[in-house]
Amino acid sequence: MGPDTQAKTFPCPLCNTPLPLGAEECTSCDWVKGYRHNVPVTSGDVSDWVAVGLSIVPGLGHIFKGHYWTGVGYLVASVVFVFFVGAGGMVAMGFNLLLLPLYWIWVGFHAYLTPDLEDHMRSFRGPEGA
Ligand SMILES: [Zn+2]
Repeated sequence: MGPDTQAKTFPCPLCNTPLPLGAEECTSCDWVKGYRHNVPVTSGDVSDWVAVGLSIVPGLGHIFKGHYWTGVGYLVASVVFVFFVGAGGMVAMGFNLLLLPLYWIWVGFHAYLTPDLEDHMRSFRGPEGA
């Protein structure tokens, strides 16, 4: 261990053990890169994908995330939407039937982006501030 090697270390934020620059985890404690960084709830967690999957039924994904009235709104809107697009599809030669999958995609996309009020990933992350 010469001076050069010494210079290329940084102290572990938790226990001050010298770690090589670019280290992703501490050899002496449970510090890992990104530790204590605020992880946005909408970061592609499993619960986001569950919400997308549930959006097969528009609104279920939102209800899953705790947005009950948003979910109910999407559910009611989709029933109305299907009815009018279905009826109008005869008139517009099916063009507006294309709106239906777009609506589904949008609801699923929105379910993905919507913050998880229920915070389903909490149990995976462990206690806050640990
Ligand atoms: Zn450490």
